[in-house]
Amino acid sequence: MSRLANQHGAINLGQGFPEGLEPPALIAAAKRALSETGQQYPSMMGTPALRQAVSDHDRRFYGLAIDPDNEVMVTSGGTEALADCLFGLIEPGDEVVLIEPLYDAYLPIVRRAGGVARLVRLEPPDWKLPRQALEAAFSAKTKLMILNNPMNPTGKMFPADDLAFIASLLARFDAYCVCDEVYEHLIYDGRPHIPLATLPGMRERCLRIGSAGKTFSLTGWKVGYLTACPALLQPVAKAHQYITFTTPPNLQQAVAEGLASDDIYYRSLAGGLQARRDKLAAGLADIGFTVLPCSGSYFLTADFRPLGFVGDDTDFCKHITVEAGVTAVPVSIFYEAGDIRHYARFCFAKKDEALDEALSRLKRHFAQHRR
Ligand code: PMP
Repeated sequence: MSRLANQHGAINLGQGFPEGLEPPALIAAAKRALSETGQQYPSMMGTPALRQAVSDHDRRFYGLAIDPDNEVMVTSGGTEALADCLFGLIEPGDEVVLIEPLYDAYLPIVRRAGGVARLVRLEPPDWKLPRQALEAAFSAKTKLMILNNPMNPTGKMFPADDLAFIASLLARFDAYCVCDEVYEHLIYDGRPHIPLATLPGMRERCLRIGSAGKTFSLTGWKVGYLTACPALLQPVAKAHQYITFTTPPNLQQAVAEGLASDDIYYRSLAGGLQARRDKLAAGLADIGFTVLPCSGSYFLTADFRPLGFVGDDTDFCKHITVEAGVTAVPVSIFYEAGDIRHYARFCFAKKDEALDEALSRLKRHFAQHRR
C-alpha cells in the first residue's frame, strides 16, 4: 500500500509511523551523545543508564520493582525484543496462543521458531475477548501467549477483568506471556494502561516489551526494551546475543534521558494524539464511515459499507489510494483467514495538515461517487 501511495502521490495513512511529534531534546541528546558515548559495542544487555531509566520508568508508572542489572534488556526495537522472546523460549512443537487481528510480525516468527500457533479471533465492532475460545486455545502444550495491549490494529485496551482472566489461564496452564506494550503511552480519554505483569503472580510469567519508537515518536531509531524476571530473561538474552547483540550507544543515552521526561511530556504526547484521533474520527464519520472506538495506539478502524462501495477491503484501500489520493490498510491482512473484509485501518498520528487534506480528498471523492 505504501508503494501504491508513493506512485499516486497519496497521503499515506496506511503505515503506522508518527509525524511532527519527535522531541527536539532527544534528537539533541543523541547528537551530543554521539561524541560522548564512544563508538564501540556497548554492554550486551544495554547501557547501565538506559537499564536504570527503564527500571525507574516502570516503578514510576506501574509500581513495578525491576532490577536494572538482571531484569532489563535493551533491544533494537520492539520487534527484536519479540523475536528474542520467541526464539529464546519456544521449542519445536510448543503451542503459542495468539489473538487476532495481530501485528504482522507475530505469526512468521512463532512459526520460524518451531511454534504451533493457536489463534483466537476478536471481531469488530466491539473486539470483545471470547473467553471460551481463549480457554479452549490453551492446553498442556501451551508455552506462551502474546498479548498486544494497547492493541494494533483495533485500538483496544484490554479491561482489567479480561487481564485477570488471562492471568488465571497462564497460571492454570503454567504458561508465559510476551506482553507487547509498545503503545503503553499512546492511551486516550484518561484510561490507565495496566501491564499484565502488575497482576498477582504475573511478574514471573510476563516478558514486557516497550519501544522508544512509539514512546518518543522515533520509529527509525529502533530502540526497544524488555523487562522480565532473570529466569525468563536469560534464555531470551541468548537469542539477542546472536541476533543483534547491541544497539547504538548514543541512541540508548538519548532514550534514557527521554524516559525520565516530566509528566508534561507524557501527557502532551497522549493529549496531542487524542486530538488527532478525534479530528480523523469526526471527519471520517462526516463522510459516512462507521468509525469504531479507539482507546490506544495510532489507529482507527472504519467500516466503509455505508459509503456503498462494492468490493472487499483490499479493493477499497487500492481504490481510495488511486482515485482519492488517500491510503489506508485493509484490516483483513491482520487475520490469517476469515471473512472480515469491510474495514480499513487509518493511522491518525500524522500532522494536522495531512489529516485535513486527507479528509477533504475523501469527502470530495465520495461526494462525487455516492449515489
Ligand atoms: N508491536 C506492535 C504491535 C507494533 O505495532 C509495532 C510497530 N508497528 C512493533 C511491535 C514494533 O516496534 P519497533 O518499531 O520498536 O520494532
